[in-house]
Amino acid sequence: MNLMLLGPPGAGKGTQAKRIENRHGVKQLSTGDMLRAEVASGSDLGKRAKGIMEAGQLVPDEVIVSMISKRIEAPDCAKGFILDGFPRNVAQAEALDGMLAEKGVAIEHVILFEVDEDAMVARILNRAAEEGRTDDTEATLRKRLDVYRDQTAPIIPHYRKKGALKTVDGMASMDEVAAQIEKVLGAA
Ligand code: AMP
Repeated sequence: MNLMLLGPPGAGKGTQAKRIENRHGVKQLSTGDMLRAEVASGSDLGKRAKGIMEAGQLVPDEVIVSMISKRIEAPDCAKGFILDGFPRNVAQAEALDGMLAEKGVAIEHVILFEVDEDAMVARILNRAAEEGRTDDTEATLRKRLDVYRDQTAPIIPHYRKKGALKTVDGMASMDEVAAQIEKVLGAA
C-alpha cells in the first residue's frame, strides 16, 4: 500500500505518517526529514539546502526527485511507503508520475489535510511558545504557507482528477484525524 499525504506545513502530516507507519508497516518518506539529516551531517547537499530551507523556499526539484526515486526502491519500502512533503509542485508531481509508471508502482490513496490557515498558525505558534521555541516565527510560517498556496496547492486538482484524493479534517484532534485516515484506508 502506497500513500501520499498532502496539506500545508504544520497540518500534522508527519505525526499521522508515523502512526500509519506503526500500524501498517509502510515506510514514512519525509523529504523534509531527509533534508534535515543532510544539513545535520554537513554534506554538500545539506550545505546547499540549509539557506533555502531557512528561507521557507523549495530545494531544487532534481535533488528531491532523485532522492525519492532511490528511496522508494529500498528494502524498507517493500510493504509500501507514505510520501510526506513530496511532491511540492507540479513539476515534482509530473516527475513522480513518470517515475511510478516506469517502476510499475501505484499510489492507492492521496490524503489531503484540510485546515483553517489562521487557526492552524495560532495553534503552531502557541505550541512553539509553550515549548520555548522561537524558531517558528509567524513570518517564517506565513512564508512557508505562501509557498504552499502558490506552488503545492496547484497539484491538488491533478490528484482529484485521478479520483485518488480523499480529505481529512486537519483541525480535528490527532486521534480523530488518525481515525479518519483509518476509515479511508479501510475503504480500499
Ligand atoms: P517539511 O519538513 O516537509 O516542511 O520541509 C522542510 C523544508 O524542506 C521545506 O520548507 C523545503 O525548504 C524543504 N523541502 C521539503 N520537501 C521538499 C520538496 N518536496 N521539494 C522542495 N523542497 C522541500
